[in-house]
Amino acid sequence: MTRRPLIAGNWKLHGTLAQSSALARDVVSHASGSNAIDVVIAPVFTALQSVAALLQNSSVALSAQDVYSVDEGAFTGEVSAPLLKDVGCKYCIVGHSERRQLFGETDSNVHKKIVSLLHHNLTPILCVGETLDERKSGKTLQRVLSQVKEAIAGLDAVALAPLVIAYEPVWAIGTGENATPNDAQEVHRAIRELLSNVLGPVLSGSLRILYGGSVKPSNASELLAQPDIDGALVGGASLRIADFAPILDAAQHRALDQARASAQRAPA
Ligand code: PEP
Repeated sequence: MTRRPLIAGNWKLHGTLAQSSALARDVVSHASGSNAIDVVIAPVFTALQSVAALLQNSSVALSAQDVYSVDEGAFTGEVSAPLLKDVGCKYCIVGHSERRQLFGETDSNVHKKIVSLLHHNLTPILCVGETLDERKSGKTLQRVLSQVKEAIAGLDAVALAPLVIAYEPVWAIGTGENATPNDAQEVHRAIRELLSNVLGPVLSGSLRILYGGSVKPSNASELLAQPDIDGALVGGASLRIADFAPILDAAQHRALDQARASAQRAPA
């Protein structure tokens, strides 16, 4: 099964309106040559509306970095899925390790956010990943698989069809240290196996699992070459087009190579 690669840039807490617009213009311009992949950018909330205007008629989709699980009410400071949709978002990152570690987000919060996003036809990018202590004590798969299970609990394959998962080892985010391609592949394969057991092989075969954690031009190709790595969630390297563009190019090459390989396999 070939899955269309997806590269998402998480701009975190960076960017005035002018900076966000300039970077969005650069991404749109570069992505016009990346027709075999999906490209997503996630600016700060305050820049969503102006970036949405720049993305119109382009191949780049807009994402938020977080959402609250209730549509409206007395929840000061929060933003809901229908409002993200209203401003032009198609995707929303959920359960990023910075939200979990710095803002106390739990698996139960993450689950509610996913339910709300899917209800409003927004695509969740569900982030999961182990800490360094968990990796060192051999608990990587236990931790990651339990995060996935809790996030999707009670949802069926039809509801979850649009879901995107991002495996992001916490120790690799923003540190310059990435998981080796083999270590990342092992976790991606285990997530896919879990999805196959819980939701069936069809959804598990089509659902995209991204790798995140210090993806940069120098390591993107070898990470993306792994059979179960379907793209990347990119933080630091998404903030400069000089770094983001080669990552988009690596994904585009991977997609074209895969298309050629599957054409060769197809019966004449
Ligand atoms: C992220 O923010 O999701 C991330 C992976 O950051 P970085 O690429 O900087 O490690």
